[in-house]
Amino acid sequence: MHLLNADLHSHSTVSDGTLTPEAVAERAAAGGVQLWALTDHDEVSGQQRAREAALDLGLAWVGGVEVSVSFAGETVHIVGLGIDPNHEPLRAGLAATRAGRRERARQMAAGLAQVGIDGAFEGALRHVGNPDLVSRTHFARYLVERGVCAHTHEVFRHYLTEGKPGYVPHRWASLAEAVAWIRGAGGIAVIAHPGRYKFTANEEYALFTEFIAHGGRAVEVVTGSHSTAEQVRFADTAVEFDLFASRGSDFHSPEESRTGLGALPGLPGQLTPVWEALGERIVGAGALTA
Ligand code: AMP
Ligand code: MN
Ligand code: MN
Ligand code: MN
Repeated sequence: MHLLNADLHSHSTVSDGTLTPEAVAERAAAGGVQLWALTDHDEVSGQQRAREAALDLGLAWVGGVEVSVSFAGETVHIVGLGIDPNHEPLRAGLAATRAGRRERARQMAAGLAQVGIDGAFEGALRHVGNPDLVSRTHFARYLVERGVCAHTHEVFRHYLTEGKPGYVPHRWASLAEAVAWIRGAGGIAVIAHPGRYKFTANEEYALFTEFIAHGGRAVEVVTGSHSTAEQVRFADTAVEFDLFASRGSDFHSPEESRTGLGALPGLPGQLTPVWEALGERIVGAGALTA
């Protein structure tokens, strides 16, 4: 089971990816992925399409989502795997989490206008696939289109991160809420890309212990967002906290993503893969029982 090519973190036009759920499924299949999850930000409306596309392509599939959470002054992402996308409390929680995005986008555009970048609200909206989910990524694509920066990473560094003109702090869901929605929908909660958070050792410890106290059970160890050193560090963390380990590219776009679907290294051997805990939540490809 360790050798299974699982990619359990990816995005489509339903959030801030540039490909439709069907096109992401096709790239997953082409990349050799055997078990796939689409994990759009704060949104499950692509899940039925993802499931159908996966089954058509002979991929095993599990329901997925990536919930935006505020914790200790940072944004933390909690992935939910094996969720039932039709579970009403999950859908309501995600709708509430999405609710402030438009107003935040207006404020971001106002900040950018102050440094001479006009039309960013309308510009970002032209890049969205889902009007309910305007994100910093869409602003980044607009600024690249305008020639303000050459690459979206550069836009984040100069315009969209704390202290920069297009940055607007936002209050997302609480950790307790996100884990409760995921568990309520039958899923397993996973701390996404822990290497990305700028926490002190104490804050990081608090994140893991509170997450586990709420019933969270897994952590991403192998992700497109981790360096090799971070992979090693969070493999140790998974063992220390007795968490299942996940693997996912965090694919957003063929042009922007460093890691293709299914192209990551395998999980270190001492870890227990999260797909061993997903069990009957997996559908398709003979549910990989072979
Ligand atoms: P938002 O939910 O609107 O705050 O946008 C967060 C999204 O921005 C993440 O899911 C990433 O896709 C993207 N993002 C965050 N930081 C960076 C970065 N440094 N470079 C490129 N994309 C980033
Ligand atoms: Mn994203
Ligand atoms: Mn994320
Ligand atoms: Mn992601």
